[in-house]
Amino acid sequence: MIPYGRQSVDQTDIDAVVEVLQSDWLTQGPTIERFERAMAERCQAGFAVAVCNATAALHIACLAADLGPGDWLWTTPNTFLASANCGRYCGAGVDFVDIDPLTWNLDAEVLASKLEQAERDGKLPKVLVAVAFSGQSCDMRRIAELAERYAFTVIEDASHAVGASYAGRPVGCGEFAAMTVFSFHPVKIITSAEGGMVLTNRPELAERLQRLRSHGMTRDPQQMSEPSHGPWYYQQVELGFNYRITDLQAALGLSQLARLDEFVARRRELAARYSRLLAHLPLTLPVAQVQAESAWHLYVVRLQTGRINLSHRQVFEGLRAAGVGVNLHYIPVHLQPYYRDLGFAEGDFPQAERYYTEAISLPLFPLLSDEQQDTVVGHLQRLLQ
Ligand SMILES: *Cc1c(COP(=O)(O)O)cnc(C)c1O
Repeated sequence: MIPYGRQSVDQTDIDAVVEVLQSDWLTQGPTIERFERAMAERCQAGFAVAVCNATAALHIACLAADLGPGDWLWTTPNTFLASANCGRYCGAGVDFVDIDPLTWNLDAEVLASKLEQAERDGKLPKVLVAVAFSGQSCDMRRIAELAERYAFTVIEDASHAVGASYAGRPVGCGEFAAMTVFSFHPVKIITSAEGGMVLTNRPELAERLQRLRSHGMTRDPQQMSEPSHGPWYYQQVELGFNYRITDLQAALGLSQLARLDEFVARRRELAARYSRLLAHLPLTLPVAQVQAESAWHLYVVRLQTGRINLSHRQVFEGLRAAGVGVNLHYIPVHLQPYYRDLGFAEGDFPQAERYYTEAISLPLFPLLSDEQQDTVVGHLQRLLQ
């Protein structure tokens, strides 16, 4: 089976991990800081805080934005569960903004009108999680304008978009989002096995994020309520978690970061190749968002179902049966039983729901060969014609 995504781990990556394994620090050591500094530099961000996964990163980013009970978090329904769940972890309400039928990202104009309504109802969101779906940012310029006008915090969920850029600057630089979250799960652009990171330019957010990832503890006398008792002393000043990443993972992440450009270049090449090879088929292909240069985590096609004899499910199953490990990103989050129990129903976000009945993610990862890609295209062609 050709998988839809796969990590690329080479001998340099292995050596980097083994080196840490033989060092004094398996966790809470110096490699984490090196990983953070390297990523901050690469993204032109002031601060980076590494944690055990992107879900934890989203959680503490929401807490750092002071999200809590009585507040609202908005996000897109076309995302992984974590982009919405982070609001629920904080006790906030979650609502969704439907997607742009062309880019499949959260639609900034739908957001604008929903905000007008929310202002009238006195239910404005405190946090917007703007997901860079498939690796390309939303219309962040427009979203940042709206954030300013309606005073909400933008968290860019760039789990798909490590190595992407927007408006000529790296995703994560903080020009259009207060905080940016990355995932280093093996299917994503670079991996630390499990791992995540929050980038920000605001020192007060960085400080809060560092504290929240480790039990709400501080050793900084400036953050303490009374003078230090001595060199052993720490204080817990709020409720935090153990969301730390290990040095082993950070070593893998740091080593992979050195290969990021190579990964993204190959993903872009493969994506361009898919677009060329699939152009004649009854498919709707990905469209570039203005200003965004995608990292191409996913290559999604939409079936033009009126022009195809097989159903969406039959095409999907046909590809799997042929050894093509396709996937579907995403089941609309609001239709999950947990969210239906909170009052959402079919018909709430028609663009995301329609997308779900047509979308298929094709295999895309740096080690995918041209020959394997030709095999994928060949099976797709056979099924669609
Ligand atoms: C993968 C992913 C996450 C969660 O990442 P983990 O590191 O597995 O916690 C969150 N949001 C999106 C959009 C993702 O794709």
